[in-house]
Amino acid sequence: MRYASIPFNHNQLGWPAGEHCFTPQPMLREDITADWVIVGAGFAGIAFARRLAEINPDLKIIIVDAHSTRESASARNSGFVIGLPHNIGSSTAELKKANAYRNLLQEGIRQLEQVISQHHLHCDWEQVGKYHCQAERGSDRILKEYASQLDLMDEPWQMSDSEELYLKLGTRFYSKGIYTPGCVLVNPAQLIAGLKHSLPENIQRFDNTPVLGIRYGSMAEVLTPFGIIKTPKVMLATNALSPELRPGLSRQAAMATFASITDPLTDEQLATLPLMQSWGLTPVNAIAGATFRFTSDRRFLIRQHVIPALSGQVNAAQTWQATQLHQRLFHKVYPTLGSVKITHTWSGTISVTRNSAPEWGMLNKFICTASGCNGAGVSKQTVAGSLLADFMMKQDNPYIADMLSLGKASFMPPSPALDIGIKLSLMKECYLGRKEV
Ligand SMILES: Cc1cc2nc3c(=O)[nH]c(=O)nc-3n(C[C@H](O)[C@H](O)[C@H](O)COP(=O)(O)OP(=O)(O)OC[C@H]3O[C@@H](n4cnc5c(N)ncnc54)[C@H](O)[C@@H]3O)c2cc1C
Repeated sequence: MRYASIPFNHNQLGWPAGEHCFTPQPMLREDITADWVIVGAGFAGIAFARRLAEINPDLKIIIVDAHSTRESASARNSGFVIGLPHNIGSSTAELKKANAYRNLLQEGIRQLEQVISQHHLHCDWEQVGKYHCQAERGSDRILKEYASQLDLMDEPWQMSDSEELYLKLGTRFYSKGIYTPGCVLVNPAQLIAGLKHSLPENIQRFDNTPVLGIRYGSMAEVLTPFGIIKTPKVMLATNALSPELRPGLSRQAAMATFASITDPLTDEQLATLPLMQSWGLTPVNAIAGATFRFTSDRRFLIRQHVIPALSGQVNAAQTWQATQLHQRLFHKVYPTLGSVKITHTWSGTISVTRNSAPEWGMLNKFICTASGCNGAGVSKQTVAGSLLADFMMKQDNPYIADMLSLGKASFMPPSPALDIGIKLSLMKECYLGRKEV
């Protein structure tokens, strides 16, 4: 058996309250049985578990995570809960399935809002929209293309020039930007912690319980270091991580990206900027460019730099390098804020598929998955997880048709061709987006 590569980050989450909002769960230390085993406690795994328990409260459901939700990308992202399709790099592949994506993303937001209000979760949920911005002066082909897609979808948008953006964002770094109202900003660590804590009682959770492999017989045997779980059904909610657990052809690659957060701005620092409310900004090139946020507690968040991470590992040197890049970029975008310090830099993994389609549905008679987030997963992985529970439990749900219409992730070549392909495509995107940083 090829054992699974277990993800690991040499860095600590920096979202305010992020370290303290998670209740540790025990490690699995015996052999047990379950009706369903869910591997991975991020948005996909938690949404799947919640919906499964709702459909049949008598099921014995187990979620295991190699570390804990706190270490998942679900706690480590930039907190854009997007309601509209969003391009990755310079590709507009996702926009082609724009309507189905929009339906799904908005359903994901609706499901999150429902749990937040039902359980009174605190997570700084702010319906403030977002700016999609370009730094390069001159060609605005990508923004124009985005605007025409928004028109086709009948979505409201507003274009701002550099001076108008300065009044909203406090920087003249960007030449143009499109504002769309359909995006929520959130503290993702608080959100996913709340979602996990509010799961129904019949869902048992184990942390620090990496799944090393899955053996097949009359049942599946999920192997962890100190216990085996016998089950007829497994849901893989690992996104592109631990690819060895996935039967069949490889269809996803894990990449790591980094986020940094600053100290809250002092009154004097704030006085150098126009009066600002919380805002979020995504770059026209998601690989080279930077996502920025200004939070309600006056901090800046920067998400930038993408590296290959096929085994889900990120070391301290790579984190340090990201801090240097972020600090330099922050000072370029906000030259008057030279005294503002980055307090934390952390990484998380995303999944990338060749054709931007997700990997969703059954993989063999024991295993199903909701993965392949393609860089954005707060609303997408929530809805993908909950719809998969409906699909597996044969419930009627009109959104299943939207999910299936997204198609299937294409086959990826094995290493070393994959490693070379990823490096070349990252180099290409960084070249195309070189004027965005
Ligand atoms: C820095 C950063 C910023 C981002 N910003 C945004 C954003 O603003 N908006 C947005 O929508 N998306 C964003 N994303 C993407 C988003 O975070 C992901 O799409 C989403 O979290 C994926 O959720 P998931 O549940 O599929 O997987 P994950 O959250 O990655 O969870 C997978 C879980 O599986 C566990 N696991 C893996 N292997 C094993 C194993 N062998 N045994 C047991 N457990 C295992 C892991 O420990 C992990 O907890 C960002 C990602 C990063 C890294």
